[in-house]
Amino acid sequence: RKGSVIITGASSGLGLATAKALAESGKWHVIMACRDFLKAERAAKSVGMAKENYTIMHLDLASLDSVRQFVDNFKRSGRPLDVLVCNAAVYQPTAREPSYTADGFELSVGTNHLGHFLLSRLLLDDLKQSDYPSKRLIIVGSITGNTNTLAGNVPPKANLGDLRGLQGGLNGLNTSSMIDGADFDGAKAYKDSKVCNMLTMQEFHRRYHEDTGITFASLYPGCIATTGLFREHIPLFRLLFPPFQKFITKGFVSEEEAGKRLAQVVSDPSLTKSGVYWSWNKDSASFENQLSEEASDAEKARKVWEISEKLVGLR
Ligand code: NDP
Repeated sequence: RKGSVIITGASSGLGLATAKALAESGKWHVIMACRDFLKAERAAKSVGMAKENYTIMHLDLASLDSVRQFVDNFKRSGRPLDVLVCNAAVYQPTAREPSYTADGFELSVGTNHLGHFLLSRLLLDDLKQSDYPSKRLIIVGSITGNTNTLAGNVPPKANLGDLRGLQGGLNGLNTSSMIDGADFDGAKAYKDSKVCNMLTMQEFHRRYHEDTGITFASLYPGCIATTGLFREHIPLFRLLFPPFQKFITKGFVSEEEAGKRLAQVVSDPSLTKSGVYWSWNKDSASFENQLSEEASDAEKARKVWEISEKLVGLR
């Protein structure tokens, strides 16, 4: 049978390119988990995906109710789950004030980390039950959360501190909207959320890999300077960022190429190692990359996991 893969945020950018690559391979049925049904339908059509290769299901990661609803709908659909890709993200580099999810969490961490945390916890059993040769849970990471890299050292740097803001619920009322308790900074909130993504992947690996055989992985697909992720950035930045990445840092990667990379992590029979953060070199060969000290801190991963469980209502 065909593999069955859920991709969050498959209505644009990396998620869409990955959905296209997998659909075209003829080996996968893609469940596009998107907040905007019509946009997703148009996107699928615009890249020429054949109807029988995808299903669109509504998911708004900025609402825990919506996450639960999505999981119920998916379970009722009777489809198996072989691979889950947590890809969707928001990035608000120019926001002066925080905005919030339906549950009152700062939007970037609430969407990118907490929404995906609940989603992947609730779908773990479905992954366990899959009889597919290699079942996987993939959480898209980023170089920007990794302070052991040049890009990760552009201020404001990711830093989860002692997690006091997360502990307080990131609601900006009786506590800070930032994980480390500092004043709101949209660019940093995104980077912090990516550190949480990478910590979560490793904590999943420690807790579940041996018992379940599920492969847990993260990746940095390269700098895809053309995606909607930068939609809220100032116009001059959006104009100059792609050529800067192409010619100066040479980290630029097209959406199509990045989609092929993520599709590889979904389906390549040789990428079954668990607990790994994949990157690609100039020749587009994948290699196991090192995470920064904070992004590989096992104690912090455990704490983020436990606090997140409370915030999303799992304990
Ligand atoms: P895009 O903005 O193009 O895609 C993000 C997707 O997330 C969109 O489909 C968007 O939906 C969706 N999304 C946002 N909020 C929600 C929500 N509340 N519920 C459901 N879906 C939501 O950005 P990219 O493709 O660049 O980003 C994809 C991933 O790649 C992210 O995890 C990002 O961190 C990562 N990444 C990107 C890099 C880059 O250079 N671009 C580099 C490294 C990592 P909608 O279409 O409705 O807006």
